[in-house]
Formats: sequence, structure tokens, C-alpha cells
Amino acid sequence: MRYTKPHFYDTFECLADRCPDTCCAGWQIVIDEDSLDKYEQVEGPFGNRLANSIDWEEGTFLQYERERRCAFLNEQNFCDIYTELAPDALCDTCRMYPRHIEMYDGLREESLSLSCPEAARIMLTCQEPTQILSWETEEEEDSFDEDEMDFLLFTRVEDAREVMFQILRERRLDIRQRMTMVEMLAEKMQQCVDECRDYEIDDVIIEAEEAFREACNAIDLSLKDMMDKEEDNIPDVYSALCREFTVFKEMELLRDEWGQTLDHMWSVLYAGGREQYEELCSRFDQTYGCDSKYREDWQRIGEQLMMFFVYTYFCGAVYDEWIATKIRMATFSVRWIQELVRYRWWENGEKLTMENVIQMSWRYAREVEHSDENLGILEEWLQGE
Ligand code: SF4
Repeated sequence: MRYTKPHFYDTFECLADRCPDTCCAGWQIVIDEDSLDKYEQVEGPFGNRLANSIDWEEGTFLQYERERRCAFLNEQNFCDIYTELAPDALCDTCRMYPRHIEMYDGLREESLSLSCPEAARIMLTCQEPTQILSWETEEEEDSFDEDEMDFLLFTRVEDAREVMFQILRERRLDIRQRMTMVEMLAEKMQQCVDECRDYEIDDVIIEAEEAFREACNAIDLSLKDMMDKEEDNIPDVYSALCREFTVFKEMELLRDEWGQTLDHMWSVLYAGGREQYEELCSRFDQTYGCDSKYREDWQRIGEQLMMFFVYTYFCGAVYDEWIATKIRMATFSVRWIQELVRYRWWENGEKLTMENVIQMSWRYAREVEHSDENLGILEEWLQGE
């Protein structure tokens, strides 16, 4: 069995009562069958509490209306199941979160969820490029059959992801250029799959690697070319953002405050028209963004977010063949986290801290990326793009 994980994976430690927004509120926590069986057998007063605080039909913990807090989260923000029973009495969801696992044939990929404030802090404050550690054990996993997973496509998707990692970690290139190269590779792969030319994907990956090397050999030229093109594209950025914003309105709201943030963000950033938006962006870029003394931090944050989304989601394309959509979702998410950060900067009187960046990242992830329903809506929408 092969395993992978980001190099910072083991540094995670739950903040528990120091967490700014505990994961035990706001979400419906689904309990696995084994834990339900265990909870059913607990006796005494705590057994009664378990019996009355679980929705046995849905297999979820009940929540208090106010803030949708889990019925077992006490006033000190500690879990009563953990303290009254034992740490291993926690259900799989609570024991695992924010650790996330993706399974493929013979491969288990572990990651941390961006929706957890501490995991987001670890990822976004990591100064060095994210490395993906890989190791093997003798252990055998139940193998997948061919209907579940196209093995050949998986090898190609994994190879392509390796090239994407190389591109994303190349700090001599502007992050916007790195993202464009990754998008182009995914779009070309998608074309091959759509036209039943899967056998050409290997060549597409080799070409992308060569184009990347050429870009590295001509850093100044490639960056200048890209900036020139971007100058021409400025009108489209505003229109594209206004169009993309509509997809948030189709999603379920996990928290009312998220809806308020979106409405206010619309009125501050976009409702005033393109000229006002561009003027605000230019002020941001000069103080905290890509034209400021924080340029390297801004670039590094974009890189770490892209690494997170590509690592966590790209190989999932083997199940639905939505190769391009997986990368569109990554670039969409990075773009909108950056927009949320701009909004927060404006709200703070044009000031920004790393804490603000971390907070906007996990808030986006909680509402959009960590909700199966919202992720589905976003992927469907991006698939049509
Ligand atoms: S969100 Fe993360 S840090 Fe906060 S309580 Fe949950 S696991 Fe711990």
C-alpha cells in the first residue's frame, strides 16, 4: 500500500477550547455505524443523554438552535463524549477531522482540511514549498475493480499532478503564470479524454513540462509577456468575477453570517462598477498585493492554496473524468479567497493581517469546499464553463 501526505501533516494539534470557531458548531456531524452501536450501549445518566441527544434515524448529533452547537459541546468548548467516555469514544468524523483521506487503488492520500482554522494556519504560514511525502508498506488494501477506477487514466492523472506540483512550486515564476500553466495542462488533458484520445495525454504532459522549463529559462520575458496580456484582459476580470459571483447565490448557506458577508462584499467591491473595482484593486496591490512589499507573501499564499486544492482534489478526476473542472475549482477557490481577503482589507480600513487571510480562507472552505452540496453545485457550474 502506498501513502502520501503533505510534509506539515503531523504538526497539526487541535486548538480545542482556544479554537476561534470550533468544528463542533455549524455542521451536521454524521455518526458512523460502529459509534452508533457503542453509544446505544452506554448506561447510566450519560447513556440517557446520548439516547436523547442523537437523531437515531439520521445518525447525527442533535444541535442547539442557537449557533447550531453540537449537543455535546459544553460551555468551555470541550466535548462531553471525550471527557465522559474516552478519546476513542469519538465517532469517526470527530476523531478524524480535520484529517481527510482520499482512497485510490493501492493508494491512500492524507491531507488536512482548509476549513479548520489551525490547519489553515499551518498551510498558509508555511514558508517553504509544500512537499508531498510518499511511502509504502506491505499492507494490502481491498483492490478496486475496473468499473470503479480506470487504472491507466489514474496513472496519467497522477503523472500530470506531479508536473503541476513542479510548476506550482517554482517561485521564480509569478503565481498567476503558474496557475495559467496548470490550467492549460488540465484543459488539454480534458480535450484528449473528451475526444477519446487518452493515449495522447502522455505527450500533453511532456509538452507541458517542456513549456514549463522554457518559461523558467526565460523568466523575465515570460513574466513580461504575461503582464502585457493581463493588461489587455483587465476588463474581463471584473465581468468574470461578477458572473462567477452568481454561483454563490445557488449554494446552501451554512451560516447566515456568510450570506451577510457575501452581500456586503458585493456592495463594496462590485456594485460600484468596473472603474471603482479596479481602483480599489490597484490600492490593494500597492499596499498588500502583488505590487507591494508583501508581494512574496501574496504569491506564497496563492501557491500554498493551489497546492492544497490540486493535491486534495485533482486525482478525484479518475472517478468522473472532470479533469479540467478540478483545476477550474482550484483556481476559482484561490481567486475567491483572494477577493474575500481584499474585502476584509477594505473592511479593516485598508489594513490587513495574516490572521485575516487565514480566517477568510477557512471561512470560504467551510461554506463552499467542505460542504458536499455546495461543492457539487460549484463543480456542476464550472463544468459548464
Ligand atoms: S476547527 Fe480545528 S482547531 Fe478548531 S476545534 Fe475543530 S479540529 Fe480543533
